[in-house]
Amino acid sequence: MAVFVPGDHCLPATPNAVGLLPREFNIVELKSLKLGPFRKRMDTQRRIERAAALIANSKYVVALTGAGISTPSGVPDFRSPGSGLWEKVNPILMASTFSFRLQPQAFYEWARPLARKLLEAEPNPAHRALAKLEDMGLLKAVITQNIDDLHQKAGSRRVLELHGNMRQATCLKCHRVVSTHGMMERFLEGEEVPNCSCGGLLKPNVVLIGEPLPRWVLLEAWGEAERCDLMLVVGSSLEIAPAAEIPFVALRCGAKAIVVNYQPTPLDSQAEVVIRKDVAEVLPRIIGQVGRLVDRYIGKSVDR
Ligand code: ZN
Repeated sequence: MAVFVPGDHCLPATPNAVGLLPREFNIVELKSLKLGPFRKRMDTQRRIERAAALIANSKYVVALTGAGISTPSGVPDFRSPGSGLWEKVNPILMASTFSFRLQPQAFYEWARPLARKLLEAEPNPAHRALAKLEDMGLLKAVITQNIDDLHQKAGSRRVLELHGNMRQATCLKCHRVVSTHGMMERFLEGEEVPNCSCGGLLKPNVVLIGEPLPRWVLLEAWGEAERCDLMLVVGSSLEIAPAAEIPFVALRCGAKAIVVNYQPTPLDSQAEVVIRKDVAEVLPRIIGQVGRLVDRYIGKSVDR
């Protein structure tokens, strides 16, 4: 009785053929032997190898990253209840340009714990893996929805920040752009709302809800999507437009896509590889494998 047809792992097609398993062995017992997790691990490994092969065979890889790449660094996704930012107010309302202009004091009070976490956060292995891929000459740009500076801290050089950054602030009165270096630390120590020397209110250069995205960054990101032959989506559920549209631009222009994200995304059905795992664990494995493939190729080239 052939009760189990294995995939590409090592069990024989007829379990009793080599006398290892009893004749009455069945699929229920296989489950009880916890082959489920084993098969899942094999499946993840295959996907990692497939993703690595796609990257190694590409000429122009572009990554799109979202909040999920920074949560292993302790940066909360402020849209998620349980992030600690929902305790008193709805952050969707608080992080809006209307709220900032109407109640700057309340906005800054709400933003203080988030700003502290952003300032203290360190890049994780997923950020570093992308920086390594850029060093290898394969990754040409990181388009990010994050404002935490962690790609730059990890060593990425070409980073397109769709939602701005906290390194600079703009005066709402005289429109002067100033560095927030030093200002952030004073603000975190409990100082009042940051003001410009002209007396105007300073707003960090992050895109609040209700504001348009920085036009030139968006245009550049669009250009990268049209140019790339592989789009790597990391830690984004692709729920917020226009960032969510960028991988679809790439696909329309003939690129392939890889998705590494815990949650399903609207791109999954069109992606070559989808891995729903911790990005900080999976991405270094993918990039490590890319490195081995590239080394092997270079080795062969030298031998010739
Ligand atoms: Zn000013």
